[in-house]
Amino acid sequence: MPKVGVLAMQGAFIEHIKMLKKCGVKTMEVRLPKELAKVQALILPGGESTSNRKLLEESGLFKPLAERIKQGMPIFGTCAGAILLAKTVDSKPGLFQAIDISVKKNAYGRQIDSFEAELKVKGFPKPFHGVFIRAPIIEQAGKNVDVLSEFEGRAVLAKQNNVLVATFHPELTDDARIHRLFLEMIK
Ligand code: GLN
Repeated sequence: MPKVGVLAMQGAFIEHIKMLKKCGVKTMEVRLPKELAKVQALILPGGESTSNRKLLEESGLFKPLAERIKQGMPIFGTCAGAILLAKTVDSKPGLFQAIDISVKKNAYGRQIDSFEAELKVKGFPKPFHGVFIRAPIIEQAGKNVDVLSEFEGRAVLAKQNNVLVATFHPELTDDARIHRLFLEMIK
């Protein structure tokens, strides 16, 4: 059985751990390179992308993680995690540049910075309840990116090879379908 890690520096990692347990896979919190070495896939949770970026660099996890992503390890970034995986963030180069998307942080604006919406997801017969919290907007997705869900005409769930991103928080619902979609990416 594969072991799926959750980056546990900061943010909503406990909820992802719970969701993975619900899906019946082994899981562990990842803070150190030696922990990363023990997992077959990884989730980057939501939280604060700038803090996560700093913590990743300080912990020595950035380099080995970038290497694992390049080697094809399945990785799923939600919200701040999606920001870390994006090619471009606020018109500047992103941290991992693992998926060909351009994102703009906190882009829904102050008045509606958090909201919920029923999302149509490719392959799901019933909508998925999307919880958006100070979410980024995916302004552009490259032609090799598979857009799995859109809100207001923009991608909110997207996949390219081994990389899956959601600008919302599937771990904050009881619905494990998106986590299962991610688990299917593990060979
Ligand atoms: N606004 C946060 C950031 O820019 C992301 C918010 C979230 O992960 N819920 O990092």
